[in-house]
Formats: sequence, structure tokens, C-alpha cells
Amino acid sequence: MTIWHTETVASVIATLETDVAAGLSDATVEQRLGRYGHNELIERGGKKPLKILWQQFTSTMVLILIAAAIASGLLGKATETIAIGAIVVLFALLGFVQEYRAEQAMAALKKLAVPVVRVVRGGERRELSARDLVPGDVVLLEAGNAVPADVRLVESVNLRVQEAVLTGESEAVEKHTAALAGEGLTLGDRVNMAYMGTSVSYGRGSAVVVETGMTTELGKIATLIQDTGESTTPLQRRLDGVGKLLALAGVVVAGLVMVIGVALREDPRDMFLSAVSVAVAVVPEGLPAVVTVTLALGAQRMLRRNALIRKLPAVETLGAVTIIASDKTGTLTENRMTVTIIDVAGHYLELTGTGQAHPAPALAHAGDAPIRLADQPPAIGLALAGGALCNDAALQPDPQTGRYAVIGDPTEGALLVAARQAGLDGAALARLAPRVGEWPFDSERKRMTTVHRLPDDPAELPEALAGLRAAGLRPGERYIAFTKGAVDGLLELSRRIWVGGEPLPLDDTWRERIHQANEQMAQNGMRVLGVGVQWIDTPQDELERDLTIIGLVGMIDPPRPEVKAAVAKAKLAGIRPIMITGDHPLTARFIAYDLGISDNGRVKTGQMIDALTPGELAEVVDDVSIYARVTPAHKLQIVETLQKKGQIVAMTGDGVNDSPALKRADIGVAMGITGTDVSKEASDMVLLDDNFATIVSAVEEGRVIYDNIRRFIKFSIAGNVGKVLVMLLAPLLLGAGAAVALLPLQLLWLNLLTDGLLGLGLGVEPAERNTMQRAPRDPAAGLFSDGVGRQVIWVGVLVGAIALLVGYLYFDRANPDDTTWRTMIFTTLGFLQIGQALASRSERESFFSLGLRSNLTLTILALVVLGLQLAVLYWPFLEQFFQIVPLAPRDLLVAAALGSLSFVAIEVEKAILRRRQAA
Ligand code: ADP
Ligand code: MG
Repeated sequence: MTIWHTETVASVIATLETDVAAGLSDATVEQRLGRYGHNELIERGGKKPLKILWQQFTSTMVLILIAAAIASGLLGKATETIAIGAIVVLFALLGFVQEYRAEQAMAALKKLAVPVVRVVRGGERRELSARDLVPGDVVLLEAGNAVPADVRLVESVNLRVQEAVLTGESEAVEKHTAALAGEGLTLGDRVNMAYMGTSVSYGRGSAVVVETGMTTELGKIATLIQDTGESTTPLQRRLDGVGKLLALAGVVVAGLVMVIGVALREDPRDMFLSAVSVAVAVVPEGLPAVVTVTLALGAQRMLRRNALIRKLPAVETLGAVTIIASDKTGTLTENRMTVTIIDVAGHYLELTGTGQAHPAPALAHAGDAPIRLADQPPAIGLALAGGALCNDAALQPDPQTGRYAVIGDPTEGALLVAARQAGLDGAALARLAPRVGEWPFDSERKRMTTVHRLPDDPAELPEALAGLRAAGLRPGERYIAFTKGAVDGLLELSRRIWVGGEPLPLDDTWRERIHQANEQMAQNGMRVLGVGVQWIDTPQDELERDLTIIGLVGMIDPPRPEVKAAVAKAKLAGIRPIMITGDHPLTARFIAYDLGISDNGRVKTGQMIDALTPGELAEVVDDVSIYARVTPAHKLQIVETLQKKGQIVAMTGDGVNDSPALKRADIGVAMGITGTDVSKEASDMVLLDDNFATIVSAVEEGRVIYDNIRRFIKFSIAGNVGKVLVMLLAPLLLGAGAAVALLPLQLLWLNLLTDGLLGLGLGVEPAERNTMQRAPRDPAAGLFSDGVGRQVIWVGVLVGAIALLVGYLYFDRANPDDTTWRTMIFTTLGFLQIGQALASRSERESFFSLGLRSNLTLTILALVVLGLQLAVLYWPFLEQFFQIVPLAPRDLLVAAALGSLSFVAIEVEKAILRRRQAA
């Protein structure tokens, strides 16, 4: 085996038969994929099937059932024992299948989050899934990327890699390319290598893949695999608590039944059976499975609306969001930057023919409105050339349409497109004046600088650069640096301005004019970049000082058409949208106004925030919805301040430095298309389309899911309250011989099949009409707030009372062996639950205005439950099993009529609520 870090770059390349400039050919890739397989770790995260199965058998509820089975066995009721045993197994299997599927669904979601890497293959740059990498591939790395495999570096420009996952070292390590001595160097000391699972925190570089998949260092210690984050939600944990409490209550009530029975001088064996039944009745067996399935299905529905959930709790938290703090570029706007104005000293060029009419997002027109540089002052050409050189994007021609796709940052892509309109090819320029140094873009400085070596012979250079050279360089000098970035910052660094082909002092008049031009463009919603140049002696010179400003480039980036409606929808739903951007305050305000984000137009910049005390900031966040020229640190500050005021914040982010804010936010939202791998890793949810409107859709789904789970809890627990009341009161009311109102098996049937199936149906209830027209729910409010507790009690009492009435009507003291009364209670409870489920579909709206078709699943499940109930009544095999007697048609009608009262009662309550609301 080759010890990669001790080899020189040349020998690594030779060993892997690859080529740094051209990469591997497609044929070789194919062959190597066959030999080495895909670049992926065998999944060891997530729950193993056996563990899921084991958990089914050890849940409190199942333990109670097992106790019931054993108790029945002790009483000599073999059928009962076998039947409960069978149900336990069935229940565990059902729970297992559902949880396993939920787990699989989450795993599938996770797979979707595999990073995309930029590689060189077949002589061109391509983007592909990290899964498809093979040894010998040449990958390009930049700040924010996850290192996709084990790689040997061949180029490093200030490249720093965060390796804490592997080495525990939290400080990022600087990477180089030279071969290292010492085979036994620890991972942390192999500074010419980068390993899968680590991430680039700064700079840029390229590298050759040396190991993939399970042979990577990460693969070798595959025990630590991805932190999967929380896999249970606060709601699930709270429900678990409720379940345990109910189980405990079950045991207590069972004891009570024993005591009552003994006091009434009942047969202790009957009483024991009754006690077991009560315990079974109390526990909502269907609850955990229904909740798990509802959450997982919800996550899938969100995916269909382009929101990829990375952490399950997000599904639930989304419904409580009160603030959506969003980036501007790409989320609120299309990130289809188009240069429309180039402004240089004393001249102003408006580009026409471009603009908002690009048909496809990634495609940019180039050359449809040619710029004749010969007709323009030299500074125009220089600004364009500088913008094209100080640039990491690339244009890729599409042979079919003749247009260009931008690879990389759209802002930089726009500069390349504009240069191309003037006949300047970025790639060709970069060959003439190769980059020998750089200081990459970051969102603190808001600018970037590249250093270029010029050829000895000025004749080789295009007009623009040749002029620069003539004016600027002293004999023997060969280096210049271009800086582009936010104009305000650039002005501070500049001492001269490029006028008429030479640098003149930047006096106050010029400063004022540049400032004005900048504001003018920003006011019209443009993103403005300044371009400056610096003459330097060696590539090691200090950069970004003493600049000569060349000009300003203004680009437009149209708001996404669907965002305006989404903003309005969010506001109607009691959610405040906030814009947080690194861009100019006037640009920010223009877009925020246009989209309806801010009514008062108040803007705070990062600088202004710095001048505030925490107390003042806390006041500011109440009514300022536009934050501009901020750094990622401000984002964190804003989230924290909002949270302290009780807000539930969803916050977007795309950069490396956004991770702290994303982690801190209640819902960290990363960008699927333009986001860095690091930001995705820190997020709870990824927007596959980078679109603000998708956040609002996800919030809506979150509300629906929460509503449905609450509906189910209400439905299920009210039913159980009813059953417990029957079990407790029947012996008191009916007296001797009626100690056991329902047998354990009958209760299990009602709890599992009736509750469970109807519950699943309630879990898929579509959004209520007012879902996005009411305020967000209070996250601190308990499970039983807002009428849930009230309904659990009154519906529970009603259900219990009706069932007891039926028992009273049918119990025949003279003939206690006739169990018709028990069958009547069983059947009536079935009807009561069906009615209850149908009426519980909406909090307020009448069942009749919802219609049967709006939740077809529930309609079908209700019919299935009805069929099953009838099967138990009239199919001899089941009849025997459940110890049921067939009912006469008249009795069945009585059960149905009394059973429908739950439906009627809940509908009446809703009608009253509706009327009260209207009043
Ligand atoms: P946003 O919040 O809109 O995404 P950014 O943080 O991307 O803002 O950009 C903030 C500022 O940084 C911009 O106004 C621009 O002046 C500058 N900037 C953005 N991208 C680049 C780049 N690729 N090179 C140089 N400067 C840039
Ligand atoms: Mg940005």
C-alpha cells in the first residue's frame, strides 16, 4: 500500500495514472467504479432493525400487555394468554414495520444530502455527487466544502482544513503540497493530505483522490459515523411521558378495581381479570406508532415541496416558527445576477439587451449586446478585465443553445458574462496573466483579491491590461493585484482613481462622486461591486492596501416572483419575515420594500448594531426587519436577541461562517443549491430550491402535522377515558356479575385496530382552511391546551356514559351468563369511535362542509373499521375468539344510533364554537 503523504505530487499522479489538468477520462472512471465501488460509507448510523424490534417489546405498554398475558395464564385462561400473546407479537411487528419504515425514510432523506463535488474529468470541470468519486479523480476544494474522500493535495492557496472529527483538534490546519518525511506521522501532521469527513474552512485548492469509501480513514473507524442528531422530537418525548403516566395510572386504577371488587364480594379471579383489562384500556397502544408515522410522512410531504428535513424535530418546531430571517441573495431573489451598469470615472455605461429576461436560471446570455471596447474609455475595459480575473467562476458553453451556464458564484458569473460581451474571455485572460496569489472572499471583509503575473511582452496582453501596465508598472515589475468587493470598504483602502488611463489622486470630490454613484445604484436595488487594482513587487506583498479604484459594477438580481405571495402568506400566519444580508442597505431596502417585507423601511447595518447595547438591540429587533452589511457574527447576535424575546426563529445561511447562527436558530435552514456543505451540516432543514417560499410551505406543513398529531391525541385519549370509566363504573352500576365490562382482548381490539387505524387516517388530514391564517402556536403550551384537555374530558365522559347506558339497558341480572350486554358495549364503543374520528377532523369546521373525499384515507379506514367490527360480530371464528355474541339487527341499530351520538355531540360543539367566533 502506498503511504500517500510521503510521495511527491508527481509520484502520486503517476501511481494513480491521472492528470491534474485533465483529470480522468470517462472510460477510466467507469472502470475504477467497477473496481473500487462507490465512494460511500456503509451506513452504521441510525437504528439497527434488531434494536427497533427489541424496543417494541420493551416499551411500557407492551410490558403491561405481557403482564396481562401472564396473569391470564395464571388464571387458567389459556386462550386469553395465547390471544394476548399473539396481539403483543402483532403489535410489536406493526410498530416495528412502521418505525423501520420511518427510519428508512429518514435514511433516504439523508442520502439526498450527499455533497456535490467539483471535479476535473475529461478535460473539463464538472459537478457530481461525492458518491461517484474514484481514486485518481482531481477535485477542487474551497472554503465551505466537505472533503469528499481522502485526498492528496496538489495545489493549496491558503487552504485550511478543519479536522476536529478525526483528530479532535479544533484549530483549522494549514495545508501544503510538498512530500513529507516520516511514514508514521499522525493524521494531524500529514499536512499534504485532507481526509473524508473534514471540511475546508478557508482558502482554495485542488487534490487527487487517493482513497474512497470504506478504505478512507473515516471508513476505517466507521464506528463514529455521522452525527444523526436527535431522532426523537420534543413532542415524542412528551408523549412518551404521557404514555408512561397513563401506564402508571392504569396500574393504580387496576388496583382500585380489585379493591372495589373485593368490597362487592366479587369472584377474585374475575376481579383480577378486570383489573388487567382496565390497565390495558388506559394505555393508548396505537399512539407511538401513529405519531412516528405521521412525522415521517410529514417529512416526506415536505420533501415533495422541496424542503429536505435533516432532523426530525424540525418537522414539529416548524409549526411554531414566529420569525423567518432570510438571506437576500438567492433566497428572496433569483441569484441570476446580470451586470447592467459599469460606472468609471467620468463615464457611465449601461448594458442593454440583458436583464430580467433570461429564460433558464443557470443560463446567461453572453454577447447579445456586444460592447465595443474601442469606443469606450480604457477604464471600462480594465474594470471588466479585473472583474474577470479576480474570479473563481467559469462559463460553460452549452452546445445546444449556444448559451453559457455559470459554474460557481452567480455574482462572479455575471462579471464573466459582461467581460465576454466585450470580447474578453476570462479563461484566456487567466492564461495570459496567471494567478499567483490570492486572498479569498469572506463575508467579514466582503471582498476578494487575486495576484497576477503579467507576461514580459506587453504586446501579448489585451488592450485593457496593456494600458494598465504602461501606466502603472515600473520597469522590471511584473505583478498586479485586482480587488473586487463592497464599495464602502474598497473606498477606505483606495488612494487613487483610474482616470483617462492613469492613476490620479482620489480627492474628496472623487470620493463623493463614487459614493453618490454607489448609493444611486443601490437605491435602485442593484448589487454594487467596486473593482480596484494594486501594483505590487512580489506575490508576497501585503494585499488590499493603497488601491487604485477603477470603477463600479452594478448588477440586478430580480426578486423571485413567488416570494411576494409567500411573504404575504407568512404575515397573515402571524410570522414576521426579516431580511438579513451582507449587501448594501439601500439595495436591501429596495428589495425588502418590493417584497413587502418591511412596512416602515427601517434598516440597521452591522456597524449600527455594533454600536448598540444588548438592551438597545433587543428593542431594535421588534420593529426593524431589514439588516444590511452584516457579518455572520451579527446573524448570531440577532437570532439570540430574538430568541430571548421568546421568538421561534427560522434562519437561513449559506456560508462557512453561518454555522453558529444556523445551529443556534430553532430551525437552521441551509441552501441546497448554493449552500456550502458546512452550512448544510449545521442545518435542520435544506431548501432544495433555495427559495424563501419553500420555508413558508414547510411551516404550513409543520402546522398541519402538529394539528394532526394533536387531533389524534385528543381522539385516542378521550376514547380511552371513556373505556376506563366503563370498566370502573360498570361493576358499581350493574352490580354482581358485571365485574368485567369488556375483556382484555376486546379492549385491545378497540385500542389497536379501531384507534390505530382511525388515528392513521386522522394523521393525514389535509390543511385546515385557516392553517395559515392564525397565529403560530405557543411552543410552551402543553399538549392538552387549547381545548384538547377539555375535549378529552367531556368526550371521554360522554363515551363512557353512553356505553354504560347500553350496558344498563342490556344487562340481565337474572341471566348473567348472557353476555349480549358486553357485546353491545363493545359494538357501541366501536361506533362511538368512528363517529368521534369523523367529527374530529376539524377543530371548528363541520364535517359536512369538509366532505368525505377531502380525507379519503380516513373515509376508507372508517369503512374498514366498520367492516372489521361487523366481522367480529358475525364471523363465527372471530366471534369465538373475542367471546362476542351475534347481535340481532334491532340491537345493532340501537348500537349504531347511540354510537353516532359522539359524532352529533362534537358537531354541536363545533357549531357553537363557530357561532361564538363569528359573534
Ligand atoms: P448576501 O447577504 O446578499 O448573500 P454577501 O455576503 O454574499 O451578501 O455579499 C455581501 C457583499 O460582499 C456584496 O454586497 C458584495 O459587495 C460583496 N461580494 C459578494 N460576493 C462577492 C464576490 N464573489 N467577490 C467580491 N465581493 C463580493
Ligand atoms: Mg451571499
